[in-house]
Amino acid sequence: MPTESPLGCDGHLLQRRKQVLGAAYRHFYDQPLHPVRGHDVWLVDADGRSYLDCYNNVPCVGHSHPRVVAALAAQAATLNTHTRYLQDGVVAYAERLAALFDPALDTVMLTCTGSEANDLALRIAFDVTGRCGLVVTDNAYHGVTMALADMSPSLQPVAGHVRTVRPPDSYRAEPGTDIAARFAADVQRAVDELRLAGRSPAALIVDTVFASDGVHPDTHGALLAGAQVMRAAGGLFIADEVQGGFGRTGRHWWAFQREPALLPDMVTLGKPMGAGHPLAGIVLQSALATTFGSRCRYFNTFGGNTVSAAVGMAVLDVLVDEDLLARADTVGQHLKAGMQALARQHPAIGDVRGAGLYLGVELVDDPATKLPASALARRLINRLRDDGVLVGTCGREAHVLKIRPPQTFQRAHADRLLEALDTGLRAVGLPG
Ligand code: PMP
Repeated sequence: MPTESPLGCDGHLLQRRKQVLGAAYRHFYDQPLHPVRGHDVWLVDADGRSYLDCYNNVPCVGHSHPRVVAALAAQAATLNTHTRYLQDGVVAYAERLAALFDPALDTVMLTCTGSEANDLALRIAFDVTGRCGLVVTDNAYHGVTMALADMSPSLQPVAGHVRTVRPPDSYRAEPGTDIAARFAADVQRAVDELRLAGRSPAALIVDTVFASDGVHPDTHGALLAGAQVMRAAGGLFIADEVQGGFGRTGRHWWAFQREPALLPDMVTLGKPMGAGHPLAGIVLQSALATTFGSRCRYFNTFGGNTVSAAVGMAVLDVLVDEDLLARADTVGQHLKAGMQALARQHPAIGDVRGAGLYLGVELVDDPATKLPASALARRLINRLRDDGVLVGTCGREAHVLKIRPPQTFQRAHADRLLEALDTGLRAVGLPG
């Protein structure tokens, strides 16, 4: 390949990518990022420029963590097989993972992606309840399979067996709204509609930080209230922790634990579980696994392979040894307070939400009408990228800044992000 091209090196790669990967792929930013290396909270591009990564929650322990890399390499150099054989590593990993949950959630089934985990959870829910009705939130995303695309309204209109409910959005709800009661009433309405359409409800499934709905980790008791309604209707409650899991929200291992009385029937895991290596799975109550297992066998060629189990164990080791739950909590609080201070200076910041190192900053064109500022959000993330800081957007109108850096993020990194946001908003935001 010639290194000289009229488009420049990146332009040439972009063109080849479009040609060979096709039209369904998207990239962030007007000037696509071309990282060639990552370490800790930094990504380095092809020109050697470093970017502060405030976006990627998959490398939860930091990019290319040496202990994770060493565990991967050592196991790959020794043996890599599957769950049809006896393996110490996968059993030890599953035991260690299950021990991070309430004792009722005692069974682990391993997959390679969050989508596979959710798809398997659906199969189990349908099998155990004998039903197929589903309730999800308005702009949910749960994965790439056909079954999941049908229940991911952020991708496409939902299928006939799916109904949607509003996320626990306290910014846009009428002042004084009881968010939990509203959520419960929405789930009840969805259940009633499903029944009218001849579908019985099998499950309520929610991303426990409501990322694609615009980041709402303060659930105001909505999860428990919604789960109670779904269970009274004979369905299950599935907590999708692909975004919120592994200590991201600080203090707790799992975002759903922010509602202490809530016990899901199944919890699906992914993204940070292998810190970049494809490792995902379900943790579920054993009665469900027993019923499903009596009728169906489960084997996933790569899910639970020896190398993945070693990687998963190393990720847990690092999260514990480097005290990264506490880090997410303290640095997250510092960052959130800094965002709230910025909101007092910049009217374009309508709301700041967050738990630990999962933050949403909602941008509005007019604080009074709360008009979503989609164009502003786009300009801002591009400006931040030019300033060496990586942030994404979420929400139906793509107007909420999505901030979820590796959990090794420190106060100095948070300050750098706050400074860049301040400068960026001064350049592209509403007049202060
Ligand atoms: N659930 C949620 C909440 C997600 O955000 C995602 C991925 N963005 C998935 C499931 C699917 O995970 P994967 O891309 O690993 O299939």
